Amino acid sequence: MRKEFVVIGLGRFGGSIVKELVSQGANVMAIDWSPERVDDFAQIATQAVVANTTDEAVIKSLGLWNFEHVIVAIGEDIQASILTTLILKELGVPQITVKATNDYHEKVLRKIGADFVVHPERDMGIRLANHMMSNNVLDYLELSDEHSIMELRASERIAGSSLADLDIRANYGINIVGIKREEEIIVSPMPTEPILVGDILLVIGADVDINRFMKKAL
Ligand code: ATP
Repeated sequence: MRKEFVVIGLGRFGGSIVKELVSQGANVMAIDWSPERVDDFAQIATQAVVANTTDEAVIKSLGLWNFEHVIVAIGEDIQASILTTLILKELGVPQITVKATNDYHEKVLRKIGADFVVHPERDMGIRLANHMMSNNVLDYLELSDEHSIMELRASERIAGSSLADLDIRANYGINIVGIKREEEIIVSPMPTEPILVGDILLVIGADVDINRFMKKAL
């Protein structure tokens, strides 16, 4: 079954989500109140609609509660973003993802029940800073203010040791949930699994513990 999405706000962020979802075979309704922006997506999205989503009657008439997942990609107009999210929530949309522009915006969105809040500029900044601080951090996903999943390049220092040898869970309180080895991905590796040069470790845990592991072991 094809997945059904609605993307509201067709700026660079919302627009790229529409393109990616469509390229992956999803049905996407693209909405913006700017007719020019909607025109740009008429040939790309499954359906492209000019609408102001702060109007509850408009959202109802589009039947947005029938969609599995709605993405609110209105950034600058914080009031419009919050109001749109609130209406979608009240209508019972199962999954609502919203782009936040600042911390205050993010806090309000969480309070009114947005299921997932993204903060692309900040998240990209953190990701880039982590990458620049350490050549070993290849990617980064913030789970909370204090917890993350990181992709770390295994150093020669630990190559040859198994997960049990390093006793990572006991020593650092973190878990290696996967190992990327060239084209292969080892999910939930066994304690006996040896780490090889070039392995990429998928690590989950508290940021302080991951940092301790990076300093000591990588
Ligand atoms: P980006 O940073 O993603 O490029 P942007 O800076 O172009 O975005 P934003 O202010 O973040 O623009 O808004 C994204 C889109 O949301 C715009 O195309 C805008 O027309 C649309 N938009 C804003 N308010 C509403 C609304 N109430 N209903 C529908 N669309 C809206």
